Amino acid sequence: MKKHNFSAGPSILPQEVIKEASNAILDINSSGLSLIEISHRSKDFVEIMNKATSLSLELLNLENKGYKALFLQGGASLQFLMTAYNLLQNKAGYLNTGSWSTKAIKEAKLFGEVIELASSKNKNFNYIPKGFDIDPDLDYLHLTTNNTIFGTQIKDLPNTEVPIIADMSSDIFSRNIDFSKFDLIYAGAQKNMGPAGTTLVVVKEEILGKVNRQIPSMLDYQVHIDKESMFNTPPVFSVYTSMLTLKWLKENGGISSIELKNLKKSDLIYSEIDSNELFEGFAAIEDRSIMNVTFNLKNNQHKEIFDKMCIDANISGVNGHRSVGGYRASIYNAMNISSVNILVEVMKELKNKV
Ligand SMILES: *Cc1c(COP(=O)(O)O)cnc(C)c1O
Repeated sequence: MKKHNFSAGPSILPQEVIKEASNAILDINSSGLSLIEISHRSKDFVEIMNKATSLSLELLNLENKGYKALFLQGGASLQFLMTAYNLLQNKAGYLNTGSWSTKAIKEAKLFGEVIELASSKNKNFNYIPKGFDIDPDLDYLHLTTNNTIFGTQIKDLPNTEVPIIADMSSDIFSRNIDFSKFDLIYAGAQKNMGPAGTTLVVVKEEILGKVNRQIPSMLDYQVHIDKESMFNTPPVFSVYTSMLTLKWLKENGGISSIELKNLKKSDLIYSEIDSNELFEGFAAIEDRSIMNVTFNLKNNQHKEIFDKMCIDANISGVNGHRSVGGYRASIYNAMNISSVNILVEVMKELKNKV
């Protein structure tokens, strides 16, 4: 039986996407060849790559606004340094909202002065710092819009003229914001878009070419733009499957309708957390993520029975990250409300079992 997959990443994808991707492994476009044995320069694959990049810009409402979409490798982790390599000349500002921001800060320091504008480390990153000053001379401001591990999410963007760079790995395509407020967005595919192996980068082309250093070709955004994400062999399966997920999202009404569904799903779990005396939420209420819901049992003695109930209900992947403990329900775009209802039922049912 198919499980209710609450994994934080790699994570749930639409069932129809997984089926179509499986078929393409056997035979792509009735060509008699597998997706993974055709040339990336073939017409079939070039069309797939073009579709993936154009759907990305279309869904984000960034068409004809000077942005380019790229499908690269190296994960979001390579973007921690690639952004700085390409954009950090003097100093950059970082908001430290968790483990991923901390790693981004570490890498950026190799390239210039890095100012940690604010941090929520004092409370194990359970909130988003607000009201910090942003020096207008910064090359850019780096944000992690959704903190996958801690379950917090930035709701209001800081007001600034400084270019904003965002790690949106775990909330890209999940909610409607004005994406043109960002000069560069990156996201590893494996949270809300596709299998691991590719990273979407959406970059405003005019911000490039302003640093003095030499940039190795593989790390140079301009090279990848000029080669249309085909500077070297792209991760064909990951790009193809991401393209299918983007197509699925468009066919299902795009970001605005998925956002409504995501809000409903997150409301269901948070309401249960707040009304059920056995549980407590981890993240500050106003900063709660609609993608990763973190919560704890108030009494750890209930853990064994709750874990068993989850297993019996076919619930998978709800264990919290080791740095937070407790539970984390990741409810990405592909997760149905019915699966969320099952988790909520189990949480309710726990009251009858303890
Ligand atoms: C998962 C994740 C990363 C790391 O992604 P990789 O593709 O494994 O390098 C970075 N940032 C955020 C917000 C994430 O959720």
